[in-house]
Amino acid sequence: MTAGREGAEGAVLRNARIAGGSDPAAPSGLVDIRIEGGRIATVRPVPAAPGSTDGYSGLDRAGKAESPAVRGGRPRDSGDEAERGGIRSIDLGGRVVAPAFVEPHLHLDKALLGTPAGGATLAEAIAATAERKAGFTTADVRARAGRMLAMALRAGTTAIRAQTEVDPGVGLLGVEVMSALAEEHASWLEFQIAVFPQEGILSRPGTLELMRTALRRPGTVVGGCPYSEASVTDARAHVDQVLDLAVEFGVLADLHLDLADDLDDERFTLAEYVARATAERGLEGRVALGHVTTLAAMPSVRRGRVLDALAAADIGVVVLPATDLYLMGRADESNARRGVAPLAALREHGVRTAISSNNVRNAFTPTGRADPLDIALLLARVSFVSEDADFAELLRLASGAGARILNPDARHAVEPGARADLVVFDSFDPATVVVDQPPRHLVLARGRPVYRQERLESWALELASIAEQAPFGQPAAAPAPAPVAELAG
Ligand SMILES: [Zn+2]
Repeated sequence: MTAGREGAEGAVLRNARIAGGSDPAAPSGLVDIRIEGGRIATVRPVPAAPGSTDGYSGLDRAGKAESPAVRGGRPRDSGDEAERGGIRSIDLGGRVVAPAFVEPHLHLDKALLGTPAGGATLAEAIAATAERKAGFTTADVRARAGRMLAMALRAGTTAIRAQTEVDPGVGLLGVEVMSALAEEHASWLEFQIAVFPQEGILSRPGTLELMRTALRRPGTVVGGCPYSEASVTDARAHVDQVLDLAVEFGVLADLHLDLADDLDDERFTLAEYVARATAERGLEGRVALGHVTTLAAMPSVRRGRVLDALAAADIGVVVLPATDLYLMGRADESNARRGVAPLAALREHGVRTAISSNNVRNAFTPTGRADPLDIALLLARVSFVSEDADFAELLRLASGAGARILNPDARHAVEPGARADLVVFDSFDPATVVVDQPPRHLVLARGRPVYRQERLESWALELASIAEQAPFGQPAAAPAPAPVAELAG
């Protein structure tokens, strides 16, 4: 179902802090993470031993966390790394580590196309993109998608579901490019292709046949876009066809759903219908929905009913705030609506939730860096988030929760048995990663380093020591030159 990755290595990550909480058994707040066969074998507390060169604690003699540029009070090279007996040992110097990011909803085929002058509504964005698709070539799609993969890796993402358009105009061009990229980057990237009928199935005859052909390829799941049909009857038929394909091909399903400001048009209020259709086919736990912004428009009693139905069918909702904030509320002359699925209500009703970037720099979304940490902060800002625990939860929505959208059995956490796909932040405070937006220091896929922040220059060591004397909070990381992606394999 998912393109596999080759190769796995052993390593020890020393002196790590785990995001979203630390091991209470570790007085230093630090752990050593041992990786074997591409999986986390052990997570062991590091005893506090300030000043010790063996069993370095990441703390200075005053018990304060040291910066990446300093060890035992002395400047040192960042990312201290050694190899003994074939096991790579990487000293994280007290930096924060988290499960690598997952993008369960990312459009690579139409990324980086630019935004039409004057902006676009949803319908205008679909029309503008349809025009651009007529000029797509393999080389063009490949170049833009490749750039997106580099951005994603640099952000700490190692798993992506690429929503890829299929229709009689573009044919299978996008799917073919994504298949080639999946193979090429299999060493670090878990990659799924959602076969996505953006322009509808009933309203674009020939699309269903193309979807069936695409679904015979490995690493595919079935996508859907019922709001692109001409009537609510057709939209429901679209839902049925997509879920029937999920059963027939034994794949997961992922629908773009209910992307509207209000409840006037029934093509945009299908969540309950999807929940029912999911349960009827025994697809619980295997269906995801992107957007679902009309949840924000519903009176709380109706919304509660819809959320309970989604929770009962174990449907995952992927919140896509960068797009929804741009496309929703456009006609509001005052107090423009936020148009974002309500995070607190989703949690209250036990709906499985994840977050993702969706579109990047095109007619649907003029902004974006394919960085789930950026999306987490955006969502925090529009969702009234203020507590440490809620920021930690946002980090989980960008990693472990997304992994479960790609694979219902996924275990994606910093714990023994989990796959060693990890992101290390240039940060020493596990509670403020979302707010700080720190640079990514190191990214590992199956225990193997696949991206590394450039090493600090000597002038930066001085800046780091000045930053340490700053009167606020934890020591700041020195500004680093722009990182360069090291695409593995
Ligand atoms: Zn999308």
